[in-house]
Amino acid sequence: MHKKKNIVILGAGYGGIMTTKKLQKMLRGHEAEITLVNINDYHYQATWLHENAAGTLHHDRSRVDIKDVIDLDKVNFIKDRVLCIKPEKKTVKLERQEIGYDILVVALGFEAATFGIPGLEEHAFTISDINSARLLREHLEYNFALYHNEREKNSARLNIVVGGGGFTGIEYIGELANRIPRLCEEYDIEKSQVRMINLEATPSILPNFDQQLIEYATNSLEARGVEFITGAVVKECRPDRIIYEKDGKEEEVPTMTTVWAAGVKANSIVEKAGLETIHGKVEVRKDMRAPEYDEIFVMGDCALIRNPDTGTPYPPTAQIAIQQSSIVAHNVRSLIHGGELKDFKPTPLGTIASLGNNDAVATVFHRYQLRGWKATAAKRLSENRYLLKLGGVSLLMKKGKFNFFY
Ligand SMILES: Cc1cc2nc3c(=O)[nH]c(=O)nc-3n(C[C@H](O)[C@H](O)[C@H](O)COP(=O)(O)OP(=O)(O)OC[C@H]3O[C@@H](n4cnc5c(N)ncnc54)[C@H](O)[C@@H]3O)c2cc1C
Repeated sequence: MHKKKNIVILGAGYGGIMTTKKLQKMLRGHEAEITLVNINDYHYQATWLHENAAGTLHHDRSRVDIKDVIDLDKVNFIKDRVLCIKPEKKTVKLERQEIGYDILVVALGFEAATFGIPGLEEHAFTISDINSARLLREHLEYNFALYHNEREKNSARLNIVVGGGGFTGIEYIGELANRIPRLCEEYDIEKSQVRMINLEATPSILPNFDQQLIEYATNSLEARGVEFITGAVVKECRPDRIIYEKDGKEEEVPTMTTVWAAGVKANSIVEKAGLETIHGKVEVRKDMRAPEYDEIFVMGDCALIRNPDTGTPYPPTAQIAIQQSSIVAHNVRSLIHGGELKDFKPTPLGTIASLGNNDAVATVFHRYQLRGWKATAAKRLSENRYLLKLGGVSLLMKKGKFNFFY
């Protein structure tokens, strides 16, 4: 009789939790032992973190208890932090124990990339998990509360600078534009005293969108008080200011709140594991396995996959991580049953950037451009569809977003 295979999945984000869900359905208890390891006992919607960080959506709405969506009679769940992977020994070191595996799925997600810019790591806020989002929300409120309680008024407390005019930076500043008027009312501050500034190094925000949608997004955000400074390369972040270069001149904005949203990289555990990486990511084989290990799958933001037509890597998205989970689960099962391994072929459905609660821009199915409530409704539909897949109707009713038109 064959020994039961030991499958270990690291990370319960989009890729990890959906792979676990699929495997718990596909495999019987006598075929394999499935273990899911995650730092928290909850999964979170990383795509909602900008709302949590602005304070427009409470972080409890973004969290989903793992026990509510995974069958813990079929899956062994370990709440622990992964410290390192040792591929040669086929073990994973956690904070409290070391575990072995026959098949490993690495789905540990992303970290902020600060590109060695002085002071960013120490002084800037990032939006990378529930804890960092909650910290940023509290920090905003604290600075607004402090403003009237200091002898000398410090305008840096009311200047918020978001570094990066890509997807995350724009989605965050859009939420801020919604939150700031409410914060001003609550803390007796004139809205005209608050500055929301977006710094972008390239000449334009939202680089992957069509020019008409970029203009629409810019106008929508400017109308709500956002200032854009494009062609601005961040040079240094200090606790009370951000320094950037524009047109060869050094400029600075006094601020106690710099939010760094200009880059993400794969979880550094992947690189430290000694797996072959390109810019920290594993360029996986077509079947999602690491090049040099037949028993290690790498997925989501930890994996690099190129568009075969252009040779450029696909951007890291929840959409791709979720799509990969079907192939990874199938291929894990094939390794156990000796079946054929399938290739992963992404199906990009579109990109939707929200600009605040009631506005968004979208390109869907490569062709159609949406803006305003239609784009917002499309985003809500895709978010709700994910919740339905993850936890059925009850999770959808508990966490879903049903405000389609406003
Ligand atoms: C603000 C924001 C908005 C976004 N909007 C969109 C969008 O609209 N559409 C879209 O497709 N994508 C969007 N993205 C990108 C998307 O969130 C990521 O691409 C996606 O989360 C990647 O999924 P993943 O499974 O690879 O990792 P993640 O979802 O990041 O999950 C990783 C998991 O690993 C756990 N973990 C990490 N380190 C450890 C450790 N050491 N030990 C144990 N557990 C650990 C984490 O807690 C987490 O549960 C957005 C991202 C952000 C930040």
